Amino acid sequence: MAGNPWEAHAGEDELEQYAMGVLDETAAGSLEEHLLLCTGCQKRLAELDEFLKAIRNPATGPIPVPGKGTPQKSAPPGSAWAKRHAE
Ligand SMILES: [Zn+2]
Repeated sequence: MAGNPWEAHAGEDELEQYAMGVLDETAAGSLEEHLLLCTGCQKRLAELDEFLKAIRNPATGPIPVPGKGTPQKSAPPGSAWAKRHAE
């Protein structure tokens, strides 16, 4: 990378890695400097961030935890509750 940080926009890969937190420190430093000056890249990063969040937390519901089973939502123990609601 050469020149002033505002001269080169962040690449798609670079932004993606930055959003995922896997970009190396040097590159992340330059990118952060550029982001301070470039609203265009700020917007792209925000959009990418939203996209990554959507992938991690799908709106289809909670991810089942293996080995934990499904919590039972049956009637409380004891016959009093069942009797009251049967009549
Ligand atoms: Zn930019």
